[in-house]
Amino acid sequence: MKIFSAILLVCFLIFAYPVSADEIVESTCYGTTSKGRIENAVKLPAKGSNFQTYSLIAGTAGRTYIHSKVREVILNAYKSLEKSHPEKVFVYGEAGLKNGGRFKPHKTHQNGLSVDFFVPVVEGIANKHQKGKQKSVPMPTGLLNKFGYLIEFDKKGKFGNLEIDFEAMAAHIKALHIEAKRAGIDIWRVIFDPHLQPFLYQTKDGAYIKKNILIPQKRSWVRHDEHFHVDFKIKCKDLQ
Ligand SMILES: [Zn+2]
Repeated sequence: MKIFSAILLVCFLIFAYPVSADEIVESTCYGTTSKGRIENAVKLPAKGSNFQTYSLIAGTAGRTYIHSKVREVILNAYKSLEKSHPEKVFVYGEAGLKNGGRFKPHKTHQNGLSVDFFVPVVEGIANKHQKGKQKSVPMPTGLLNKFGYLIEFDKKGKFGNLEIDFEAMAAHIKALHIEAKRAGIDIWRVIFDPHLQPFLYQTKDGAYIKKNILIPQKRSWVRHDEHFHVDFKIKCKDLQ
């Protein structure tokens, strides 16, 4: 009987008090996205039930580190999309280095607050009668197309047999904003190709995005058509 009570007590302690090694230490960011660094950054998981990394190689090379708060927001957003859009799949791209700092070829991504997300895509023949047959597929990201970054969509968001799923993309951005607010942080801006922005605003969540998210209309140094870039807003310490 004593042994049984002891086992019960041990079980209780294990479940009630998770070991400290499992606890994530809060990250500390310094400076800005274009001149900064980070301490205690955490890695994004390679995959979940509705998302995956753009590259296991890049992940292993340490290019998917992020602020712990941003990681929490990203994973909660995927979780909420799992319920609202169960048939959709998502692919994330580059985040940052373990200690932040210069992250070539990007101009930002330096303090754990920037993440690239590949646009969700559907595959299939895009004509009205077959719309329903289009299937959400992960963006093809491999060595040949520079992990997806070399893919160029046309002005209507098409690339070969693939088409940007603007509905899923808008839902993703909205979910990120809702989860950011819930976590006590915010989204500073989203960078996406100005020519493709109108398609985003025409979606179900387009009005929400227009009202709540800054998406500059100015063309950035690199065309953001195959991915959109998100800068989160967290108060960081001054860069020493
Ligand atoms: Zn970026």
